[in-house]
Amino acid sequence: MDLERLKQIMKGKKILLVGLKGSGKGNRAQDLKALGLLHIGLGMIMREQVRKDPDSELSKQIIETTEQGTLLSDEVVIPVVLNRLSQRDCLESGFILDGFPRTRAQAELVLDKIDLDLVLYLDVPKAFLIDGVVRYNRQACIKCAACFSDFDMPKVEGVCDKCGGKLERRKSDTLELIQKRIQSDEEQINSFRSLFEDKGIWSALPITVEGDAVIDDTLLKKLKGEVYWAETDDGGKARLLNYDGMRERVYEFLEKKFA
Ligand SMILES: [Zn+2]
Repeated sequence: MDLERLKQIMKGKKILLVGLKGSGKGNRAQDLKALGLLHIGLGMIMREQVRKDPDSELSKQIIETTEQGTLLSDEVVIPVVLNRLSQRDCLESGFILDGFPRTRAQAELVLDKIDLDLVLYLDVPKAFLIDGVVRYNRQACIKCAACFSDFDMPKVEGVCDKCGGKLERRKSDTLELIQKRIQSDEEQINSFRSLFEDKGIWSALPITVEGDAVIDDTLLKKLKGEVYWAETDDGGKARLLNYDGMRERVYEFLEKKFA
């Protein structure tokens, strides 16, 4: 794969990254960032808004909602997101936005105001999402949000391979909370999925490897050295791609789609 060529192809592309909790949005965002796209996270731009303009009504609402731990309303989220995405750096380099939209109203507005190129849905078996977090010790980098676990162990225990940040188990990573979160994520995604499908910009990218397809062993997810088989949502079994495998799949997909 010619990475320089792919960077040229991807320049200026506007992409939303969608997936259930634990589907690897953070990792895929890093892959896309490596192609020159700006990574815009919802939390990040909300903090930016508060820092730049702390006394505005919008910022006060963000601070209040954060303190209460509730979900930000569309009235707060939409103007902040649209404002950020219409700034020059985003228009020139292109961007990858994750954590947005959360509601159908947000999806409708972003479709109306922004000429999106792609909504990329990371399709990962639910059984793995739960196992990967709860049974196999998922930890996240406090600086760049990259995730590690018994499947993808960091080279040095407790330290992020990518930025050297500290790895911590998230307090929200319990079985009950993960199940709840998956269910509510699914409801959210189903509420707006058809809008993007109808526009022809929705693409689902599976992490699974079909049947007994021959594939380089180094690209498969392993658990303590053995190829891992996950239960799929339809009750079957499948091998999964690992970090490198998914990056390759994403890059190949983008090349095919936009070249
Ligand atoms: Zn990191």
